[in-house]
Amino acid sequence: SYDVLVVGGGPAGAAAAIYSARKGIRTGVVGERFGGQVLDTMSIENFISVTETEGPKFAAALEQHVKTYDVDIINLQRAEKLIPASAANPLTEIKLASGATLKAKTVIIATGARWREINVPGEREYRNHGVAYCPHCDGPLFKGKRVAVIGGGNSGVEAAIDLAGLVSHVTLLEFGAELRADEVLQRKLRSLTNVTVHTSAQTTEVKGDGKKVNGIDFKDLTSGELKHVELEGVFVQIGLVPNTEWLKGTLELSRHGEIIVDARGQTSLPGVFAAGDVTTVPFKQIVIAVGEGAKAALSAFDHLIRS
Ligand code: FAD
Repeated sequence: SYDVLVVGGGPAGAAAAIYSARKGIRTGVVGERFGGQVLDTMSIENFISVTETEGPKFAAALEQHVKTYDVDIINLQRAEKLIPASAANPLTEIKLASGATLKAKTVIIATGARWREINVPGEREYRNHGVAYCPHCDGPLFKGKRVAVIGGGNSGVEAAIDLAGLVSHVTLLEFGAELRADEVLQRKLRSLTNVTVHTSAQTTEVKGDGKKVNGIDFKDLTSGELKHVELEGVFVQIGLVPNTEWLKGTLELSRHGEIIVDARGQTSLPGVFAAGDVTTVPFKQIVIAVGEGAKAALSAFDHLIRS
C-alpha cells in the first residue's frame, strides 16, 4: 500500500507527488493522461519564472521532474471508484477501470476539470487557432483584435469585461433570452462602449480560412435570421466541468460538482485531500493548481505523522 496515492497527473497531481516523495514516503500517482489539460494548450505565458513555453513541453517537464523521485507512476489508468477507509479497513481504496485496486493511507485527488464545448463545426478545428477557453491565459494573444464570448453567465460576462480592456471589440452571444450573470456584472458590461450583446443567439459555426478563425455564425432565435460577425477570436465560456462523476456519493461536492476542500486541501473524508481544478478553490490556473497540489501533499504528510 501507499502512504500517499495521488489520483490525476496534471500540474496539481505532479506537484503533490513531488512534495510527497520529498518526505521519503511511499508515493504513487495514477492518472489517465500525464500532463492533464496542459497537453491541450499551445503557449503558456503566465507560469511565473517561465516567460514562455508550450503545453506539451510543460507537460514533459512535469513528468521529468516527477521521475527524478522515487514515485510509482501508473499512467493511462482511470480511477472509477473510491472506497473510504473504515474501522475495519484503515486504508482508502481506489478501484481502477482495469479492475485493479490500489490502497493507501492517504489519497490526494487531482483529477482536474474540462471545459464544456459548444459542439458546433469549427470549434475543434480551430481550437488554439482562435478558439480559446481561458481569458486569463489567452486574452493577451488577441490584443487589439475582435473577439466573441459565448455564454452570458458569470464567467462569460466576466470574460467579456476582462477582454474589453484588451481587445478592440467584444461580441457576447447568449443562447437564452436574458443574460444570467449577476446584476453588478451586467451593469458593468452595459457601461462598456466596445461590447455588443446578442441574446437569444444560437452559435451555429466558427468560421475560418483553414488556418485560423475569421468569423462566427449565429442564429437569431427571435427572428430566425442567420447572422455573421467577422472577428479573430472566440472564447467559449459555457462552464467548466470538474472530473468528479466517479466520486458522487462518497465525499462532499459543491452544487457545481467540485470537491469541497478547506484551507489545507482536506475533503469531507479523513485522510482524503484534493487539489487543483477539481476543487472549490477559485481561479483555474496552472500556478494555482501546483500550489494547491503542494499544499495537499504537506497536509497529507501532516495527517500521516499524527495518526
Ligand atoms: P488537469 O490539468 O485537468 O489534470 C487532471 C488529470 O487527471 C488529467 O491528466 C486527467 O486525465 C486525469 N484524470 C481525470 N479523471 C481521472 C480519473 N477518473 N482517473 C484517473 N485520472 C483522471 N492555465 C494557465 O495557468 N495558463 C495557461 O496558459 C492555460 N491555458 C489553458 C489552455 C487550455 C486550452 C486549457 C484547457 C486550460 C488552460 N489552462 C491554463 C488551465 C490549466 O491547464 C489548468 O488550470 C490546470 O491544468 C489544472 O491542473 P490540474 O492538475 O488541477 O488538472
